[in-house]
Amino acid sequence: MADLKSFQRWIAEAAADLIEQADHLTELDRAIGDGDHGTNMARGFGRCAELAEHEEFGGIDAYLKKVGMTLVGTVGGASGPLYGTFFLRMAGPLSATADAGVFEVGQGLRAGVEGIVARGKAEAGDKTMYDAFAPARGNGRGGVHRRSGRRGGPPRLPGGGRGRGRGGRDATLPLVARKGRASYLGERSAGHLDPGAASAAILLRSAARALGADAR
Ligand code: ADP
Ligand code: MG
Repeated sequence: MADLKSFQRWIAEAAADLIEQADHLTELDRAIGDGDHGTNMARGFGRCAELAEHEEFGGIDAYLKKVGMTLVGTVGGASGPLYGTFFLRMAGPLSATADAGVFEVGQGLRAGVEGIVARGKAEAGDKTMYDAFAPARGNGRGGVHRRSGRRGGPPRLPGGGRGRGRGGRDATLPLVARKGRASYLGERSAGHLDPGAASAAILLRSAARALGADAR
């Protein structure tokens, strides 16, 4: 369902959207941060989108690892290591497959989001990218996956394939930031969308399109 080419299409589409939205993301970061999030993301993902032109990848995992390392090396700020960790960790559950089904894609997303939490220590409601990513972590409780029959509450792309992270992004509006630069503003951070949650929603929307993870 999602092979190496699908993952490369994901990154290409995410890069195009992030570049298109760069001014908006920077505007959001100007309100409660230092105004670099759009340029950070456009630079990093722009570089990632070029990877496939210059290099052959042996598998989905090798590609995701390279994307992660590229982001760590090019995005900078707080979000660079966090997005880098997301892709490095996502590679794990996808190491044995050349064509990932909805379950494997979900497992990869969950591992990536857990990497963000391990690194940034954000909790739900801290007004960070994690608020947009949290639904992709799944609930970790029982349940049997419809198609694969496997247990473990398969994580899904947020919003049942409709919201795709936008609900989590929009929920950051009234929150007071408790992590990152915006937390220095205290109460004054309320009333603004979190820039990282906005970029995460863009990444998840393109994942839904390119990886077909919501095709059900
Ligand atoms: P910086 O704040 O260093 O300039 P960016 O502007 O690129 O970095 O990214 C800011 C975004 O990073 C925030 O909007 C927030 O979503 C995210 N962020 C910051 N700290 C954390 C953290 N500890 N955990 C999760 N996300 C975080
Ligand atoms: Mg910033």
